[in-house]
Amino acid sequence: MDIRIPLTDLRMGEPEIEAVAEVLRSRWLTSGARTRQFEARFAELLGAEHAYAVSSCTAALHLAFAALDIGPGDEVICPDLTFVATANAVRYTGAEPVLAASVSRNDLTLSPDHVESLIGPRTRAICLMHYGGYACDMEAFETLAERHSLRLIEDCAHSPLGFGQRGAERRALGTFGVAGCFSFFGTKNVSTGEGGMVVTSDPDVGERIDRLRTHGITVPTFDRHRKPVIGYDIAGLGFNYRFDDLRAAIGLCQLERLHEINSDRRERLEEYRSVLAGADDISMPFAGRDLADSAAHLMVVHVDADSCAVRAQLRERGIQTSKHYDPISSFELYGGSDTGPAATVADGLITLPLGPHMSAADVNDVCVELRRAVRANPRQRAA
Ligand SMILES: *Cc1c(COP(=O)(O)O)cnc(C)c1O
Repeated sequence: MDIRIPLTDLRMGEPEIEAVAEVLRSRWLTSGARTRQFEARFAELLGAEHAYAVSSCTAALHLAFAALDIGPGDEVICPDLTFVATANAVRYTGAEPVLAASVSRNDLTLSPDHVESLIGPRTRAICLMHYGGYACDMEAFETLAERHSLRLIEDCAHSPLGFGQRGAERRALGTFGVAGCFSFFGTKNVSTGEGGMVVTSDPDVGERIDRLRTHGITVPTFDRHRKPVIGYDIAGLGFNYRFDDLRAAIGLCQLERLHEINSDRRERLEEYRSVLAGADDISMPFAGRDLADSAAHLMVVHVDADSCAVRAQLRERGIQTSKHYDPISSFELYGGSDTGPAATVADGLITLPLGPHMSAADVNDVCVELRRAVRANPRQRAA
């Protein structure tokens, strides 16, 4: 059967098309005025000091670690239950990612207690990931970071305009750590196709990120184009992680929709919560969390059933699902273990469709089919 209810969809239309056309007509396609506007608007929305647009969230993470001089001999603690890019970006620097468990099956964010038990003499930083758009325990992590003199980096690929607490203060996720890294890949809440952003309130870190994203050149292309600067210098080994004005034009339109996009997602999530409440073979992580602070990126459930067979049956019924995630430790590159730190929380995990393409009737439809599939596919018990 064709896909009837896709996993996700974008809210995008005429404003984005017109904005891209305008950039094409201007004949300045690479990083320029639009990119600067996109960065300024992003920083403003989050209440961050500086924002740097880059080619992806993976690039953003790599630059954040590189700007902190993390490298060979260092360790960075990061979640086992995240996209592999979080740990890969640590490895690009020559440092070693150390994988930590989630809090529980009900709270899939990184466990401060397990992280603390993994801190050693080589630990330099903790990379948080706000799973599904829900904040990690920021009070615990800020205390931990201060006590052990560690830097916090936030992987915010799931959490644009999600919020966390610092004491009585409600802050945007990404503004707690020394750097917050965002993704504009096609499956995220807001997309530019490919793209990413680093926010920081540390001007030195910002300056290093700015330089490293464009070959280490000390005067960027756009300023050279406009100002009479002669020559440039290379102070350190940089990369080409630049963004461009075509995507910035899309991004600016998307940011204007961000509040609306997130609130629509929260509404659908609320509907899922009420329809699935009380099912004893389907449980909902984060069910007790206040959605007002969540970027509502994912709708995940644990099923007490054969989750692969459940997903196959849903697919037969035209419903696309996913799994966020198979733990990093389960991949061959990371040891290929099925008993890694996140093995128990990942067991039975399924991601259901969520996005602006869904009506309340679609949510209901998915829940009906999910219940049916769970009943039809009991777990294979060892004999
Ligand atoms: C999508 C994602 C990334 C990678 O983002 P890209 O922009 O594709 O590089 C990193 N971490 C998490 C948690 C993600 O979901």
